[in-house]
Amino acid sequence: MELIDTHCHLTFEQLAGSVDAVLQRSIEAGVSSWITVGIDLNENKKVLALSEKYANLYAAVGIHPHEAAKTQDADMENLKQSAKHHKVVAIGETGLDYHYDFSPPIDQARIFKAQLQIAADLNLPVIIHSREAFDDTLKILNDYRSSLKKVVFHCFSYSPEQAKILLDYGCFLSFTGVVTFKGAETTRLSAKSTPPERLMIETDCPYMTPAPMRKQKINEPAFLVHTAKFIAELKQVPLEDFASAAASATRSFFNLTKK
Ligand SMILES: [Zn+2]
Repeated sequence: MELIDTHCHLTFEQLAGSVDAVLQRSIEAGVSSWITVGIDLNENKKVLALSEKYANLYAAVGIHPHEAAKTQDADMENLKQSAKHHKVVAIGETGLDYHYDFSPPIDQARIFKAQLQIAADLNLPVIIHSREAFDDTLKILNDYRSSLKKVVFHCFSYSPEQAKILLDYGCFLSFTGVVTFKGAETTRLSAKSTPPERLMIETDCPYMTPAPMRKQKINEPAFLVHTAKFIAELKQVPLEDFASAAASATRSFFNLTKK
């Protein structure tokens, strides 16, 4: 059985000091490939350095909407250069977040568009972070529709109706441990309605620890297996079948075989 953690933050301080042990526990749990994701220029640098150390560790570089206000247009050239690194498989995470008020929407939109342009220029998939900003996210994506081939909404938490709009649009949806949370009925319905060939899974660690590991404050890739089991049961398919469908969707989306 192959499990791939499509979105983790191994460079964050909660995990960065113990990556060897974290990845060892991950491999023992059956999670043997990872994409570690950047959120700003500083973090992107760390992501690239870490990805060079482990064969099955891939990188995504991007600027999180929270960091948009302090990001200059000139920083985009830096991002574009780092995206040419041989372990980079996507631009992200990027998008819009209206839940927190860390950056004005106008800055978020500016930085989001610039990153979609980089993804289009370099022919890379995009990892989208979108929270309470569904309509605006889609509106901006629409402007790049012809030049972007692969788009995944990470930590998916929108409704099944919104899931359908994105699936019709050609997007992939990626689910975290949130599906296991008590109050997350909407997310469960969305996961249930997403076809296996468009569904990916992720930890988004160190956040979003799935049940039954909620007591562990720091999430890690090994716990992905709980999210996988949960969604497999939700979809009433054997875990092995679910895992292999998610892994093959992931491999083709991020083109992992070529790296
Ligand atoms: Zn993330």
